[in-house]
Amino acid sequence: MAETQNKNPDLMPTDTPVIDYLRISITDRCNLRCVYCMPADGVRSLPHDEILSYEELELFTRAANQAGIKRVRVTGGEPLVRKGVEEFVRKLSRIDSELKVSLTTNGVLLDHYAADLKKAGLTRVNVSIDTLDPETYRHITRVGSVDDAMRGLHAAIDAGLEPVKINVVVLRGVNDDPLPFGRLSLQLPVHVRFIEYMPYFDDPGKWYVSNDEIKERLAGLGKLQEMESPEGWGPASYYRLPGAAGTVGFISPVSCHFCASCNRLRITSDGKMRTCLFDNNGFSVKREIREGSSPEHLRGIIEGQLARKRAEGDHKPAVGSRARAGDHMSRIGG
Ligand code: SAM
Ligand code: SF4
Repeated sequence: MAETQNKNPDLMPTDTPVIDYLRISITDRCNLRCVYCMPADGVRSLPHDEILSYEELELFTRAANQAGIKRVRVTGGEPLVRKGVEEFVRKLSRIDSELKVSLTTNGVLLDHYAADLKKAGLTRVNVSIDTLDPETYRHITRVGSVDDAMRGLHAAIDAGLEPVKINVVVLRGVNDDPLPFGRLSLQLPVHVRFIEYMPYFDDPGKWYVSNDEIKERLAGLGKLQEMESPEGWGPASYYRLPGAAGTVGFISPVSCHFCASCNRLRITSDGKMRTCLFDNNGFSVKREIREGSSPEHLRGIIEGQLARKRAEGDHKPAVGSRARAGDHMSRIGG
């Protein structure tokens, strides 16, 4: 693997995080319509010719790897609705033997894909399941069945993907009882992460619950033992309930923003690089990719964007205010 840009002392003050994590949104399309992610009338789909091919995304990832990226996460929209995702994962995992490839999915189709994805080189998977209650699941996703998502979750465990994490976006008055997930972590080797809702297109005050509140409620199941966060497990703090097979964690982008330690770069399916979730537009590299730029040229562009991210530092979306991302989460990829 190439030397990381982050080792150059001129480019990196000592307290700057190493930017080594890339989220690749491979599609803006989704088979669910989660209330916190999409407006009721959906999001206009990008025309097909705007979407980067797998070859183009692979070229970008190769250049990003040369610029110091060591972990990539395939996301969407719903990544499993794009055909050929297993082959794409295989190609990514062959870019560099040290490059770790993971996936974030709503799990609805994971039952069909888990074993093949594991064979293709996928290690980790995050499954977004916001509630275990069938009616509430249908209400949140507008169209989905929690049984499908749970089948996907079990298929991931059975396939030997490790770790298997569950993402739970908590909405006040909708799914703000964390105890069922606490109990699930007692039984299954899964890592449940409660994520604070970030208001994208809705009334900022609506639904928001702080993770402090969720943590206090979880203590009803026993004393939470704090764990050291394993490397590469993201910005969550992790705890274990006594005797639990799994863990519970908290990702608190609103009450405890983590911009200063953010190590992420994103690329959307239409080729916009985002160095921050709250970038207004992103920086398009589609033209460069389509005009046949070399990996070295792309690497230079990526390094320029990473240098900008380090210089800008801390974006801090204000607590309780409408987050200012210039696009929908389903396009950016979370
Ligand atoms: N469709 C896949 C899924 O749901 O896991 C991947 C894409 S989704 C945009 C990625 C993550 O973003 C999910 O875990 C989702 O819960 C999270 N997300 C979407 N909208 C959010 C919001 N308004 N606040 C917090 N998290 C959000
Ligand atoms: Fe689709 Fe994921 Fe957004 Fe839900 S959170 S609508 S599953 S992209």
